[in-house]
Amino acid sequence: MVGRKIKPFTPLYSEILIELPERRNILLENIPIRCPICRSVHVRSNGIQKRGKTRVVCYRCYNRDCPFRIHSAGGK
Ligand SMILES: [Zn+2]
Repeated sequence: MVGRKIKPFTPLYSEILIELPERRNILLENIPIRCPICRSVHVRSNGIQKRGKTRVVCYRCYNRDCPFRIHSAGGK
């Protein structure tokens, strides 16, 4: 066999936290990260970008039927 092994797909989840004073955070819910176009959960992390003074995590849609993939080879 040649090349890297393909990673098995696992859906990504994002935490919704309630911030309380004195650094006490309560986990409210875990929500799955979805593509905004096709609502698919087949998204993967695509690095971190600087936005202003903070950093945001970027995601890329890997759903083959997503209409957003038409203009790009691997989706965004
Ligand atoms: Zn999509």
